[in-house]
Amino acid sequence: MSDKFDVIVIGGGPGGYAAAIRCAQLGLNTACIEKRINKQGKPALGGTCLNVGCIPSKALLDSSWKFYEAKNKLADHGVVVNTPKMDIAQMQKRKDEVVLQLTGGIGALFQANKVTWLQGSGKLLSGKQVEFTPNEKGDAQTLQAEHVILAAGSVPIEISVAPLKDDLVVDSTGALEFTSVPKRLGVIGAGVIGLELGSVWARLGAEVVVLEAVDTFLPVVDTQISKETLKVLKKQGLDIRLGARVTGSDVKGKKVTVSYEDGSGEQSEVFDRLIVAVGRRPMTGELLSQDAGVSLDERNFIYVDSQCRTDAPGVYAIGDLVRGPALAHKALEEGVMVAEVIAGEHTQVNYDTIASVIYTHPEVAWVGKTEDEVKASGEAYKTGVVPFAANGRALAAGDAEGMVKFVVDEKTDRILGMHVVGPQASELVQQGVIAMEFGSTIEDLQLMVFSHPALSETVHEAALATDYRAIHVAQRRRKK
Ligand code: FAD
Ligand code: AMP
Repeated sequence: MSDKFDVIVIGGGPGGYAAAIRCAQLGLNTACIEKRINKQGKPALGGTCLNVGCIPSKALLDSSWKFYEAKNKLADHGVVVNTPKMDIAQMQKRKDEVVLQLTGGIGALFQANKVTWLQGSGKLLSGKQVEFTPNEKGDAQTLQAEHVILAAGSVPIEISVAPLKDDLVVDSTGALEFTSVPKRLGVIGAGVIGLELGSVWARLGAEVVVLEAVDTFLPVVDTQISKETLKVLKKQGLDIRLGARVTGSDVKGKKVTVSYEDGSGEQSEVFDRLIVAVGRRPMTGELLSQDAGVSLDERNFIYVDSQCRTDAPGVYAIGDLVRGPALAHKALEEGVMVAEVIAGEHTQVNYDTIASVIYTHPEVAWVGKTEDEVKASGEAYKTGVVPFAANGRALAAGDAEGMVKFVVDEKTDRILGMHVVGPQASELVQQGVIAMEFGSTIEDLQLMVFSHPALSETVHEAALATDYRAIHVAQRRRKK
């Protein structure tokens, strides 16, 4: 094996594999170092997202939703099923197959693009040198690159008040592997991951209690949308307790007792399983030698500029290692941007139009600024909010909870934010992303013809509603 490359990427997740493939497309001799061994004991590309994140969680969310529908919703449509049963082993087998298909696909893409996959650990040394330690037996080797891209991602945060224990107290990775439905499940943290994984097991019949230290539910989400989301999730049976800070846990036999403090004092709950979902931290620990020359910020993320350059010349860092939302699509686009910057192109990720999604049912999705953020900035703004209950397609499908909301600059008519809780919010929000990327005004959306009946009509109606022109909802105030 050569010890010289144009580009060495450390980490083969969405950030790293996309960067490596794009570098190779641009004619750069590229190696990607990835150390992951999957649960089948094989080296695997795809990072957190494909192996233990986005993809397996969505597979379980889809399976559990089908079960929930069969049990609670199909009768409304006149579909009579005998009491449905859940085969957890089959659900997990299917999930594992989806993961293997996708991670294997990245390996095939590496081969097709002639990216060299080095199976083992990488560490950044000084002067764009990388120490590579193979997973298999063999000595560490020093490699030289013209450019290095750090894409080592993140791992779950562990907290001393709830240390992981076998399959009883688990992190998000363990929560994807339950082989039976716990009777009572505790979740610490009402963030995206806690809500998604809590939803999976609640739909399958677990009594789920979510303990969240902060008083506000989903503080980064637009308040009107987060209030509606909380209402719907509570109705589905998720017992979400806000202002509940976990202070300790005690495992005895097959039970875990969790103590927490809330407004009324010390409380405790006994669970059959506990998921710790209190956030993720960047994997900087073994990635950097003392003299690597990159700086970390106050939260231990690698400090980068808007094009992901670190303080070390020729070294870039992307994805969950750096500032910004911990999202696969953000990591991926940063990977592409850095590859193109290395190849001399002038690419820039537009951080203002990266959408976030919570894959509960209904889904929650948003892009841009919340109403509270715009209000605080003092800009004059207008909003338009329309519920899915006014949408024919949503009603026909029996899936009409939630709403679409636009926040619009009053003076320029430009879209500042789009917020959705409702069916297929992850797909609908992309319409807002496209509009915002094109710098369209809300009037542009108002003037477009949307197919009928479609969920997208709610996007149209919400755009109309910003000027009191919605047809299918009664709006109180009419503009002069
Ligand atoms: P990662 O995907 O973490 O990949 C980094 C890779 O680098 C890892 O495979 C690791 O083994 C490897 N590595 C680390 N250090 C070294 C080293 N020294 N040498 C060699 N290799 C190394 N995001 C979404 O956008 N949508 C979702 O629906 C979503 N769902 C999620 C659900 C869960 C349960 C979790 C945990 C996360 C989810 N995320 C989701 C977040 C998403 O997974 C991450 O934002 C994304 O994977 C970050 O990509 P990355 O390339 O920066 O890092
Ligand atoms: P996220 O970072 O979006 O994954 O969300 C993690 C959530 O866990 C945050 O909302 C934190 O407030 C919450 N959290 C962190 N520590 C605790 C704790 N000890 N008890 C309850 N909630 C916590």
